[in-house]
Amino acid sequence: MSLSAVKLSVNGTVQGVGFRPFVFKLAVEEKLAGTVLNDGHGVEIVLEGDKAQIDTFKDRLIKELPPLANIESIEEKRLEPTRLSDFKILSSRSSAVDTSIPADAATCEACLKELFDKNDRRYRYPFINCTHCGPRYTITRSIPYDRPQTTMSSFPMCEDCLSEYTDPMERRFHAQPNACPVCGPHVWLTDNKGREIRCSDPFTELVKAIKEGKIVAIKGLGGFHLACDARNAQAVKTLRERKNRPSKPFALMSLNTASAGEFVYINDKSSALLKSASAPIVLCPKKPGTDEKLIGVAPGLSDIGFMLPYTPIQWLVFFEYARRPEEPDWYKKPLDLTLVMTSANAGGEPLVIDNDEAINQLSGICDLILLHNRDILIRCDDSVAIQKGEDTQFIRRARGYVPRAVKLAVSGPSVIATGSWLKNTACLTKNDHAYLTQHIGDLDRASNCVALKKAINHIRDVFKISPEFIACDLHPDFYSSRLAEELADEYDVELIAVQHHHAHIAAVMAEHRLIEPVLGLALDGVGYGLDGTSWGGELLRVDPNGFERLSSLGPMKLPGADKCAREGWRIAYAMLASRVNKEKLFKRFAYPQTKAIDALLHSDLTPPMSSSLGRLFDAAAAALSVADFSSYEGEAPMMLESAAGDRLGKYLPDLVKIIDGKLDAADLLVHLFEREDTAQASADFHETLGKSIAQWAKTYAQKQNLKKVCLSGGCALNRRLTSVIRRELESMGLTLYEAKNIPPNDGGLSLGQAWVVIMKQQKIC
Ligand code: ZN
Ligand code: ZN
Ligand code: FE
Repeated sequence: MSLSAVKLSVNGTVQGVGFRPFVFKLAVEEKLAGTVLNDGHGVEIVLEGDKAQIDTFKDRLIKELPPLANIESIEEKRLEPTRLSDFKILSSRSSAVDTSIPADAATCEACLKELFDKNDRRYRYPFINCTHCGPRYTITRSIPYDRPQTTMSSFPMCEDCLSEYTDPMERRFHAQPNACPVCGPHVWLTDNKGREIRCSDPFTELVKAIKEGKIVAIKGLGGFHLACDARNAQAVKTLRERKNRPSKPFALMSLNTASAGEFVYINDKSSALLKSASAPIVLCPKKPGTDEKLIGVAPGLSDIGFMLPYTPIQWLVFFEYARRPEEPDWYKKPLDLTLVMTSANAGGEPLVIDNDEAINQLSGICDLILLHNRDILIRCDDSVAIQKGEDTQFIRRARGYVPRAVKLAVSGPSVIATGSWLKNTACLTKNDHAYLTQHIGDLDRASNCVALKKAINHIRDVFKISPEFIACDLHPDFYSSRLAEELADEYDVELIAVQHHHAHIAAVMAEHRLIEPVLGLALDGVGYGLDGTSWGGELLRVDPNGFERLSSLGPMKLPGADKCAREGWRIAYAMLASRVNKEKLFKRFAYPQTKAIDALLHSDLTPPMSSSLGRLFDAAAAALSVADFSSYEGEAPMMLESAAGDRLGKYLPDLVKIIDGKLDAADLLVHLFEREDTAQASADFHETLGKSIAQWAKTYAQKQNLKKVCLSGGCALNRRLTSVIRRELESMGLTLYEAKNIPPNDGGLSLGQAWVVIMKQQKIC
């Protein structure tokens, strides 16, 4: 045997995820001596032994990685062997420890086995976890990620737990939230006034209530959920009434994909995502007959959002419903319990996280509350992804992903970017890592503004970031822009305002590590334009120095300004007014304001204008009589997309024109107004618009000599539209890049703002 020695410097998510015990085990199995320790950049491994066995070790290191670990890079250096005798886990080089906090992770398979094993000491224990799973980000106050810094600090470990915690061969070695029935937190049930319900078992009572059609609040990882039996139409109706949520779809939870498969089609990618440690909600296409089984859950839409249980508490609800089965793989078989699991909050307010808050805010909505005494420190909504062909795309990035970094193409100055008005997130960068906050929500609520500030400070402290630039949206009146001014003052650094759609495209560039000039296709709701008008259907050239607006959608009139976002029929009326018989229009849009709008259009006053594609979709939904109003953002466009069902669209030439270099779809709208066959007309609309947009983009790509197109903005979530655009652009030899892990809507905007600043400062060109 020839003795060799190497040092491996491993980079990525390798701290706080059971990486060192994994390395230890591997080294022992491969009969290697050496050391492993956490250092400032990740983990440092020294190995000494047979060369072949070192090679096997390196192979297995990648292949058998613990579920929550992720290796970004491994640097290898040859060493002179020093005849070490054994393998040791050394304590961290604390002076330089990179103090990151992992994301929360769904209960792992090993813990599930124990949870359902009658003979295990954690049988039915609602807080079971290990190094591979459990709460992380949502319970951690500050760094280093250590038990005293978490909300588990008030639960000293019992002897058994402590011995697991200190044994490197144990699955719970350094599992910070480690607990058991003897030493850890517990659950209890209350009525909706917070009075404890004395019962033999909270889960038995809870499941009984759900079966009876009651609405229950359940404390989760990043906040409370409101739950009820999704098959019980009356329960769903009551929940809608009490929550004052007329039609916005509810997310569902089922035991496994086999159970959810009764209602939706789940492809392999979505299935893997549902079962992943991040366990997001995934929107999947409904199967025929689903609306009849799940009345009122997602009315008028082609998809339903499903998630699988990700906390032991949620698992125990299903276990109880299944009557505590003893066969070990019971949870892999279908179960007929489908729960509505919607964020527990009162009308747009932030998600409820604390016990008193739950009792105060939810008493009028739910009948029972399942509480526990492990505090949630960081509010974190469920993440939401969408199935897009074989791919998935994010709509909302929060629990399970935050604070995981996006790796940038280059290192740059530290930036804090404060995002936009809707679906706000902020982004903080350090070297080549960008950290996005969890989804904060719309900044029309004071409480969300407070939450934004808190989230920024939290990420800043966790990653020790001192900003060298602050970035924000160009819109001067956003709270996020005012906060950015405050931050720039506080740190005495430069504030850079970034145009909304420039940021949308830059976010896609950041995610795909593109630093060359690209053609940007920003298909969006609204964003403040350089000229002070509202933009949203933009063709941009973006490079590291900035952007140029090459073209846009023809401007549309918005009679009633902001009201148009909720009342798409107003835009439709304005577009159709001079092209369609007035009698017919009045009859179709018989609203109290119609005459006033008509008068406005014929007066000298000019209503606000917008080039937003989102608004064109609102108008099209109204013109086709699919939806005149939206009760939540994006409702009408989603209804319009859903209306097409599985029809194949026909391209209708000449209905979309280029007028003065701008894309004009007024004739297409007139056409929709006259169509009767809603499904086919919607399919034709998407096909025609998508193909026209692609041809429009191609013209400018050729003029600018660009081969890469980045597509982003809220409308990029429309699968029918983007699949047409993708098909067309690819057939023209262009490459299309879309947002994947960061939402294309305003939830990803802060990343783009930060990347614009970094590209400029680094003078990448
Ligand atoms: Zn586990
Ligand atoms: Zn214990
Ligand atoms: Fe936007």
